[in-house]
Amino acid sequence: MTRKILLGDEAVALGAVHAGITAAYAYPGTPSTEILEYLQLHHERHGAPIASWCSNEKTAYEAALGTCFAGRRALVAMKHVGLNVAADAFINSALVETHGGLVLAVADDPGMHSSQNEQDSRWYADFARVPCLEPSTQQEAYEMTREAFEVSERFGVPVMVRLVTRLSHSRTTVEVREQRAQNPIARAKNRNAWVLLPANARVQYRGLLARQKNIAAWSDASPWNTLTLNPHRTDLGIITTGIARNYLRENLDDLGWAPSHLHIGAYPAPPHLLRGLVAHVQRVLVLEDGQPFVERQLRGLFPPSVQVMGRMSGEVPETGELSPDIVRLALKLRLRPTVIPDGLPLPNRPPQLCQGCPHAHAFHALQEALAGEKDSMVTSDIGCYTLGALDPLKAIESCVCMGASIGMARGAAEAGVHPVVAVIGDSTFAHSGLTALADAATADANMTLLILDNDTVGMTGAQDTVLPQSRLADVIVALGVAPEQCVVVDPHPRKVKANAEVLKAAIAHKGLSVVIARRECKVAAKRRQRAAALAAAAGEGVAS
Ligand code: SF4
Repeated sequence: MTRKILLGDEAVALGAVHAGITAAYAYPGTPSTEILEYLQLHHERHGAPIASWCSNEKTAYEAALGTCFAGRRALVAMKHVGLNVAADAFINSALVETHGGLVLAVADDPGMHSSQNEQDSRWYADFARVPCLEPSTQQEAYEMTREAFEVSERFGVPVMVRLVTRLSHSRTTVEVREQRAQNPIARAKNRNAWVLLPANARVQYRGLLARQKNIAAWSDASPWNTLTLNPHRTDLGIITTGIARNYLRENLDDLGWAPSHLHIGAYPAPPHLLRGLVAHVQRVLVLEDGQPFVERQLRGLFPPSVQVMGRMSGEVPETGELSPDIVRLALKLRLRPTVIPDGLPLPNRPPQLCQGCPHAHAFHALQEALAGEKDSMVTSDIGCYTLGALDPLKAIESCVCMGASIGMARGAAEAGVHPVVAVIGDSTFAHSGLTALADAATADANMTLLILDNDTVGMTGAQDTVLPQSRLADVIVALGVAPEQCVVVDPHPRKVKANAEVLKAAIAHKGLSVVIARRECKVAAKRRQRAAALAAAAGEGVAS
């Protein structure tokens, strides 16, 4: 056994490597990005496993499913809203009897540090009727990921490992074990299981339902679920899930006694253990990071004599991340005094585009092009450029989900608004904009698409995009945009006026037009230059 200092995300990645994965696929998204970044580093050093960014979470999930179809183990990683994109593949893959382990690591973002909502992925695992493991520490993240592959192969279903931001992005020592060998290639024994024609799908779904009893028994017996009853007190029982257990432990000394406690790390929520707790106490306080997933299951399940407390009843706030202080208040403890070091509070620093970011210069050109237009509408998307909604730019008016800018612009144009401009980054365009542009091209929607092409996924740390700059214009034309209506500009500060004229001409065109503002992200450029300098220095070292 050796020790490593790992982020929660990295513990998942290494757990997957040591479980013998052949491949890992992902789309970057905070707080899950570091999972694949760690695996790419591992690949560079050891030559395996395959670790690849994909166009979006659905294509990533499908690639992992294909690895598993070949009998080998695969990890797929994404953030919670990414699972909305992959949901079609994920829900259906629960029916196909996976024979190579398939693990979905999904990182939720309660408190919305870097997301547009705080949905809880445990609902998805429940919806798909598949097991879910929820670590409370980095060590558990490592162990649970290893085990998740065993569970996947045992029950023939994908298994979810659910993380939250605080665990994904905090670092501690993890004891790691030896690496298991990869599975050999093996075809599915039951070929019909993978052909979800209605006649087969009905059989497969019945099979999935039949396995639920065994999955529930696995959860009841899992060492990740622990029930400790206090034989002397029956007034309060506590249920924790994931990292909520850490917050409870932090406050127990001040509480002065130990309530009966059920900790849930493996789902479905263990039915016998739940009944065992509830039969012993009069009130149950549920502490879970995210939405009231367990709390909701408890309500209505037990007699009214048992009071269930949590986010739904107000003991815990309905939204936002859990914290030791929130748990403290739920336990009716007084808050500890806050210490403010000298010099604080610091001034507020709202997020901004980097100094010299090409997006800012593209926005300046767009604003100049739209100056004097009273009824213009600018839809936008998810990326660094979403910051264009804030002061001082205030250049965009929407950000809903990946790729929505184009479909929304088409709809607004067809509703009679003019001019309408959709603003999207190159990576988001490859993720979810392609199909919307095909729709807009078919309809020849009277709108302009402005693609901010910085040749990277800037917002999540400058990962590679799947659609390189050299192919972008070709793809746009292939989707049905007239070649003369697809122009490229350089969003340089000295070219704002000229670019505004190009945008004005595009907006004046009756029908669909596309302007690509192409300039490399500052951060990616610096990183590339640093890597080139290091490579050159290493080359000189070898030569000398
Ligand atoms: S990371 Fe790149 S794209 Fe994002 S704000 Fe900075 S320079 Fe602009």
